[in-house]
Amino acid sequence: MAESSSVKLIEILRKIISRTSIIAEGSDPKLDSALREIRQATTKGENAEEILKVFNKAEPLFLNSEEVQLKRAKAVRKVFHELVSLLEQNDSASIPKQEKRQFESSLRKHWQTPAQWPTLLIAFLSLTKNSLTATEAAQDTNKDSVIKRIFNRREEDRNAQNNQQILAEISNKLSGLMSNLQLPSHHDDGLAKLKAALRNNDNLEQLPDLLDDVIHYIMIIIGKTEENLTNYLNQLNKQLSSINSSITDSYQSQKTLSQSREGFNTTLQEQVSDTNNAVQGANNLDSLKTLIGERLTTISQTMEEHKTQMEEQEKQANSSIASLKNKVTRMEKDTTSLRSMLQEKLAQAITDSLTELPNRMAYQDAVSTLCKKSHQSKQPLCLAVCDIDHFKRVNDTWGHLAGDKVLRLVPKQIQSTLAKEDSIFRYGGEEFVIIFPNTNAAQAAQRAEDIRRAVEKTPFNMQGKPVSISISIGVAELSPAEDPESLFFRADKLLYSAKESGRNRVMLDK
Ligand code: GH3
Ligand code: MG
Ligand code: MG
Repeated sequence: MAESSSVKLIEILRKIISRTSIIAEGSDPKLDSALREIRQATTKGENAEEILKVFNKAEPLFLNSEEVQLKRAKAVRKVFHELVSLLEQNDSASIPKQEKRQFESSLRKHWQTPAQWPTLLIAFLSLTKNSLTATEAAQDTNKDSVIKRIFNRREEDRNAQNNQQILAEISNKLSGLMSNLQLPSHHDDGLAKLKAALRNNDNLEQLPDLLDDVIHYIMIIIGKTEENLTNYLNQLNKQLSSINSSITDSYQSQKTLSQSREGFNTTLQEQVSDTNNAVQGANNLDSLKTLIGERLTTISQTMEEHKTQMEEQEKQANSSIASLKNKVTRMEKDTTSLRSMLQEKLAQAITDSLTELPNRMAYQDAVSTLCKKSHQSKQPLCLAVCDIDHFKRVNDTWGHLAGDKVLRLVPKQIQSTLAKEDSIFRYGGEEFVIIFPNTNAAQAAQRAEDIRRAVEKTPFNMQGKPVSISISIGVAELSPAEDPESLFFRADKLLYSAKESGRNRVMLDK
């Protein structure tokens, strides 16, 4: 570089240092003075060594300043979170969910950018305003407080320790359910957050809100948006109010019926007493005959009229009862179909769609029940964890679809050797778990060996060629007072030692 142009370059760099150092000022007094020194050194045109010295002195302050900046941003984020929870403490149900989610998402994106803090604050204020408006509007409807009330009532009924246990169990169950929901990936974040919230939840009062979120995701899964459910409930409500008006109508017609019966009695009584008086006043037989004839005609006319009226009213009552019946039948049908739809969806949530085996969530339910039973009855119980060997190779060599086929066939082979009370679950990927109730370690090891052999000798057909597949199995027997997690952990460890000792084998706890 020519000397004049290098002088020019140095001059420009000096200017840049001077300007940018001014921008950096204001976050830390020590850094400010160091920046001033750098500015002076560069504008004075001191030699490079002097400038480097000043810079070296300032460097830890630069690093420190980044830390300070991060600390401050974290504090800001914390404040925003606290603000949101204050809002929730006020009345979490009325916080517009979508808006809150949007706010939290921009908080996640922008908390480190001070320039965005005002925007975040504006968004928070809008959230507050909308929540408060919703609180007022919700005061008469007060929808989800029903769940709150239920839980609050329960809370009164049980002692605190029991609550913690129940809470942990409910939260765990819900978190397990959430793990098994196959939601579109854009729900991953929300779902993971919800699961973490469930796992960390030790406050009963928060459960209703978490439950709301769980319900929200379940509604997505079963293809019913909340809007849809609201529509259904509105429809149900309409049906109920129409049934109510039918009942009122029928009550009214009953009322008129008895009123007209009363009226008829009065008229009849009057006519009879008129006749009586007239008979008493009559002074010869002929006029008496005529009088009686006239009175009888009037009485029979009254009776005829009354009969027609009664028939008319009976017809009306019958038709309103028929329409009432119709409505009740329709409502029953609707409710039955909703119930069976929910049952079907719940069954789907505990079934693995590829293998149609019960999934990990179903396993967790089953194993905890069976372990409890085994502890009570002192009957043995064993657990086998099976994993297909080198399954990745199957995918890599024959493709993912062929892999799926193996995943469907292997458990079929396993099932063919299982006893009636044994149950198999797809734990995840190419891993299956089998529970052997009333079975001791030696029997379970024999059963596992049969399973291993059955899979080994089955020729799996891949693009017309027979391919052998093998599995490794770890078997453990439930110890007294052991929990299902520890049992699984031991069986899984044994599975890994089976893998390490060459695969295609069964390992049993000695
Ligand atoms: P090892 O003998 O140590 O168990 O080896 P491996 O190859 O079986 O185990 P690894 O964990 O390396 O690979 C498991 C593979 O299973 C990786 C994953 O892509 C595949 N997999 C998991 N779930 C499915 C599925 O539903 N379908 C298919 N085709 N593959 C799956
Ligand atoms: Mg494997
Ligand atoms: Mg595996």
